[in-house]
Amino acid sequence: MLNNVETLASIPTILAHGGEEYAKLGTEKSKGTKVFAMVGKVKHTGLVEVPMGTTLRTLIYDIGGGIIKDRPFKAIQTGGPSGGCIPESLLDLPVDFDTLVEYGAMMGSGGMIVMDDCSCMVEVARYYIDFLCEESCGKCTPCREGLRQMRYILNEICEGRGKEGDVELLEEIGHMMQDASLCALGRTTPNPVLTTIKFFREEYEEHIGEHRCPAGVCAALTRFAIDPQACKGCGMCAKACPTEAISGERKQPYSIEPAACIACGSCREVCNFNAVLTEGR
Ligand code: SF4
Ligand code: SF4
Ligand code: SF4
Repeated sequence: MLNNVETLASIPTILAHGGEEYAKLGTEKSKGTKVFAMVGKVKHTGLVEVPMGTTLRTLIYDIGGGIIKDRPFKAIQTGGPSGGCIPESLLDLPVDFDTLVEYGAMMGSGGMIVMDDCSCMVEVARYYIDFLCEESCGKCTPCREGLRQMRYILNEICEGRGKEGDVELLEEIGHMMQDASLCALGRTTPNPVLTTIKFFREEYEEHIGEHRCPAGVCAALTRFAIDPQACKGCGMCAKACPTEAISGERKQPYSIEPAACIACGSCREVCNFNAVLTEGR
């Protein structure tokens, strides 16, 4: 018999106070507490134990302290690689097993990755599908081939070769995998793709139709520039740049040489004044 460590950790409390007391915590169908591993662009990362039904907003803002550098929140990915991405409009969702599944995500391992406006949701889907391609055992065709086709299409979109109809094709493949895969892995692996399409469809459309990555992540679709009004001339970006594409005088606005820039995003990461801007190529 296998037991999750989290389950075993609940037993002393239940023995000490009784099942009824424990069941007073939580929601109608998900009783007790849940441990989450909260990471990503949140100020206080770590393991948190909360009653089931606690909202995502409480987790991120009250417990997690909000978003690093107070940037705008964009999404939270729950449930590990085959979980889904939840947008800001659902931050007041009470988190329990059923609610997350209802919105295309899941509790899974209790992992939560907080993302700010610098996260590209197409790239997020591409990253997880790439990982899941290696996890699929290959026994059944829907999961094995579906994942490979999804990876191919997502790579094409992120590299600026997306086509009309790609989003619909991703949805069709995802639904086919949910219906026809042999085990739970294949049935849940489309979640990162289907939830990002459901909640961030316009990002896919901008990648394909406008050749632009609005989050400034996909290198083939992004040009970095420094806003001279916002730049304080601290030089941090120049030190962080791996290709020496940034130059300038201290206390004067710095600038980026486009030909030398590989769009790695390090300058935006280190700038404390939000002076690094991104635009489409
Ligand atoms: S759905 Fe399950 S059985 Fe089918 S390939 Fe994926 S991991 Fe293997
Ligand atoms: S880190 Fe920001 S403020 Fe400092 S020089 Fe670079 S762009 Fe300007
Ligand atoms: S995106 Fe990367 S390569 Fe381009 S200027 Fe910034 S740090 Fe340099």
